[in-house]
Amino acid sequence: MRVFDAPRVVDGRRDDVVQDGRIVVADDGTVEAIGDREELDVPSGAERVEFPGRTIVPGFVDAHVHLQGARTLDVEQWMTVPESLAAARATADLRSLAAAGFTSVRDLGSSVGLGLREAVATDEVPGPRVFTSGRAISQTGGHGDVHGAPYERVADGTPLSTLADGADDCRLEARKRIRTGVDCLKIMTTGGVLSERDTPDVRQFTDDEIRAMTREADRVGVDVAAHAQGTAGIVAALENGVSTIEHGFSLDDRCLELLSARDATFVPTLAIMHRITENGDDFGVPEWGLRKSQDAREAHLESVRRAYDADVPIAAGTDFMGPDLVPHGENALEMELFVSEVGMSEMEALQAGTRVAARTLPRDDVGTLAPGNRADFAVLDGDPLADITTVRDVHQTYVDGRRVLA
Ligand SMILES: [Zn+2]
Repeated sequence: MRVFDAPRVVDGRRDDVVQDGRIVVADDGTVEAIGDREELDVPSGAERVEFPGRTIVPGFVDAHVHLQGARTLDVEQWMTVPESLAAARATADLRSLAAAGFTSVRDLGSSVGLGLREAVATDEVPGPRVFTSGRAISQTGGHGDVHGAPYERVADGTPLSTLADGADDCRLEARKRIRTGVDCLKIMTTGGVLSERDTPDVRQFTDDEIRAMTREADRVGVDVAAHAQGTAGIVAALENGVSTIEHGFSLDDRCLELLSARDATFVPTLAIMHRITENGDDFGVPEWGLRKSQDAREAHLESVRRAYDADVPIAAGTDFMGPDLVPHGENALEMELFVSEVGMSEMEALQAGTRVAARTLPRDDVGTLAPGNRADFAVLDGDPLADITTVRDVHQTYVDGRRVLA
């Protein structure tokens, strides 16, 4: 047994902080007990670790990343990077995520996520728990296509996506993904910012195509995430069975109703939009990408505020992928933006980055520090409830009650 003490402990479930808190961690890496130091004895023989002045919070969860070791936002260049180099760089990104307090990430589009998941699970590579969709599924000419490349080069897919057209093809693609053991599927139901010849408003995939994929996923108990920015594609995704809406630039009342009715989770990815609109021109984002992100910015923020007012579960997810503009390791920015741009309280933002983000994962023993759950936590310098930017100041990160980085 190990015992961790800190002046402030946040468990991710309750809305107040445990002052002078204590977590007792069993040898199997689960939380044995959590609460007030006065009421929880140190078991005999237990090792005691104290964090004076610091705050223990549940380990952060990023519900939307790409683990492809990308070092540029020029999508055509991704296609020239050997997969071995992508995987090597992605292990460095996992280390950065761990150093930044992240204990679980959901990879929504990469060709190396499954291998990374295995290497982390077997303790060969340090990092957060990896959950992955494998490569995303896009229609031809859709968000996952690379429009400027010759068709012959993308016909077998890109590092982040494969193409499927027609319900049969979509079903086959879903089955191929499930066959590899993915944790979820990722599909594209609208155009996007970083795809040249479509726009966020353009709906992609037909109802039949979407249903072909969600039904396959349903049968094996796997969730489907939809890249969905414009209203029509969001409605189509939700009506046809997806579980999480990624980006959601223009949620109208119908979208909000469907999100609630389906108990779906909204992952707005404010962080990447913030970085592209603020600094994209200095970091090689193409002109059309800058224009589309600027056009979407206000509606996007309004959309997230409406979802917040409607009590839709909002999860922290950055869409960060590795280049200097959107590097792994700065993913806690999403929680800061939830406070500064959306009006969440600091505690709500912390929960969005822990418990709510964990709703998107296929297990229910992560995201909160409760007895029986995994002892995944971050130790922060200072008090994030007084100043949300403290989420950047990570002292140490623990997964299964063990420090991830020595
Ligand atoms: Zn993404």
